[in-house]
Amino acid sequence: MGVPTLGCTCAVCTSADPCDRRLRPSVLLRCRDTEAGNEHAVVIDTGPDFREQALREQVSHVDAVFYTHAHANHILGMDDLRPFSFIASKRGGPIPLYADREAADVLERMFNYTFSPQSSYPTRARVRLVPLADHNLLHGVDFVRVPIMHGEQAIVGYRFGNAAYLTDVSAIPEASFALLEGVEVLAISALRHIPHPSHSTVKQSLAWARRIGAKQTWFTHISHDLGHEETNHSLPADAKLAYDGLSVPVTL
Ligand SMILES: [Zn+2]
Ligand SMILES: [Zn+2]
Repeated sequence: MGVPTLGCTCAVCTSADPCDRRLRPSVLLRCRDTEAGNEHAVVIDTGPDFREQALREQVSHVDAVFYTHAHANHILGMDDLRPFSFIASKRGGPIPLYADREAADVLERMFNYTFSPQSSYPTRARVRLVPLADHNLLHGVDFVRVPIMHGEQAIVGYRFGNAAYLTDVSAIPEASFALLEGVEVLAISALRHIPHPSHSTVKQSLAWARRIGAKQTWFTHISHDLGHEETNHSLPADAKLAYDGLSVPVTL
């Protein structure tokens, strides 16, 4: 929902701490190609705040987008890829959007004027849906599909190099732990302390982080139940609440 949450006047929603202002969750992976000298930018999820986030991080181009699932808070900013997609299509082609079949179906329905072969809207986003594979090689980086559960829905997290991004998770299937072996930097959702039918609690996510053996864990997708300062005070040194604009080095 974002924090402040609309209509709420709780202590976190009215907090003056900038870390208590949370846009909808997303990840930008920037990597420099040392041989060619150019920088690649890969985005995971384009939520309703994508434009604001791209401006804040001074994003100049997007090479690809990976989707975790097709809930509104993870896809509604897709159309704001348009200016980046015009740049990309001049450079070589539409921006690839990696999504599993279920998420692609929703994207196609929601953005019918973009994806329909009958669409003639002249300035539609130059994007193309790419079926998500178990391994998705992009500019030499393997984006590994990590199946996770989001309530009753099977969605995906991603592993790249020594890092993984698991958002909207409520359960991790046993087989997915093998895909997370060796992950040192973990970004994982932790909505609140009170159990929720489709999101894990801080305690549950911390337990998974321990099992995975992450050296550094960042909690994301945080509701207004959790104040930044106060919650971080109660957490171990290697597992903290993330905040908007947080930048973490990873090894690919
Ligand atoms: Zn609130
Ligand atoms: Zn969701």
